[in-house]
Amino acid sequence: MTVLAKNLNIAELVARDTAHHFHPFTDHNAFHAEGGARVITQADGVWIWDAKGNKLLDGMAGLWCVNVGYGRKELAEVAYRQMLDLPYYNTFFKTTTVPTTELAAKISANMPERFKHIFFVNSGSEANDTIVRFVRHYWKLMGKPYRSQIIGRRRGYHGSTMIAASMGGMEGMHGQGGLPLPGFHHVQHPYWYDFGRDLTPDQFGLEAAADLEKKILELGPENVAAFIGEPIQGAAGVLIPPKTYWPEVQKICRKYGVLLIADEVICGFGRTGNWWGFQTLGFEPDIVAMAKGLSSGYQPIGAVAFSDRLIKDFFDKGEEFYHGMTYAGHPVAAAVALKNLEIIEDEKLVERVKDYGSYFAEGLKSLNDHPIVGETRSVGLIGAIELAKDKKTRARFDKPGRVGTLCRDHCFNNGLIMRACWDTMVLAPPFVISKKEIDEMVRLARIALDKTYQDVKAEMA
Ligand code: PMP
Repeated sequence: MTVLAKNLNIAELVARDTAHHFHPFTDHNAFHAEGGARVITQADGVWIWDAKGNKLLDGMAGLWCVNVGYGRKELAEVAYRQMLDLPYYNTFFKTTTVPTTELAAKISANMPERFKHIFFVNSGSEANDTIVRFVRHYWKLMGKPYRSQIIGRRRGYHGSTMIAASMGGMEGMHGQGGLPLPGFHHVQHPYWYDFGRDLTPDQFGLEAAADLEKKILELGPENVAAFIGEPIQGAAGVLIPPKTYWPEVQKICRKYGVLLIADEVICGFGRTGNWWGFQTLGFEPDIVAMAKGLSSGYQPIGAVAFSDRLIKDFFDKGEEFYHGMTYAGHPVAAAVALKNLEIIEDEKLVERVKDYGSYFAEGLKSLNDHPIVGETRSVGLIGAIELAKDKKTRARFDKPGRVGTLCRDHCFNNGLIMRACWDTMVLAPPFVISKKEIDEMVRLARIALDKTYQDVKAEMA
């Protein structure tokens, strides 16, 4: 236990949290009634500990971000050294810092040739906000200011700021704060399990892509600035599109001159077994948003990569981009991110994800025989378990999310962190997970599924 945990009066801390802490994405009434926060105090590898000493396998790598695993001393050391050397300086007025520039070069070196310019931000949401400002201004510079409409997908998740949430297609979020803002539109998400009916996944992939073309034509192609998508939709429930989907989406974007944006906030930096999700899913974006795995969550940092074609036009026009955050390219965050990328390279973690991905997939598949499992799927180290009332017809339990929440709570109480996206259980463990730990993750998942099944049976009895 850490010193912090040893000296902790947990009850007092939880009471203070209940009294003073307004949590994101939390129903506080229910949360407080259940006794308040679980205090996480320590972590190592794929494991986290709470203040009561419970040990949990973190099947979600925090929020899909702690890719190199917890407890990396080298990342702490690099942050400490950078703080002593230069804790802060900005990059606004013709200045830079060593780690910021090195990081831009390092990201670029791990991308296809055409991505040479990196713009830094502090989060995935800010990356996507930045992209909207950039593309709209880009089209204005190109003499097409009417090209301003942005198309995303239903249940897409691109962040929580007003713009990022507008790009996203989460209905619950749209219901708060008057979203989506004007100029944002959403099309069919490639979710074969729920929407594929009796089509093959490949047929459905083309059908979902066709919905994008329909929307472009409805808006008028000359008015559409860009289409954004996560290569694999994470928060929607790890939706792995049929292989026909992305190439067709790319074809449609090219046909109408619509810029193609890949939101790589979850998929980037190796999660799918390649450096980028677009490489795994087979498409070539013009702009890439990234965050999370960039620093493995050890520091808040995000970035946007722009392809040469856009940058050349943008720079050639000779106009300043009136956009930037105080902490953009923060030297401490950049130093940590740089070291994190070195770890990924030195330990060949992307190759490891590809290699262990098939073991993870086998583990998930072993759950297919469970009475409430409708489907399992995964790519690299990101996967999902669909909870179904009827395996054959893919019928759902009533009140979407209710059974998923039951399952998630059983996981939590039994040593596994697995997230519920409605009734889809999702997993994205740190890349350093061992085969033994994958076995343990699957074993704990089965226990939670069994318990959930007992609950469901009891309700029906
Ligand atoms: N895009 C995707 C695909 C995400 O999953 C997230 C966060 N879960 C974001 C953007 C937003 O990132 P942030 O929370 O760092 O703003």
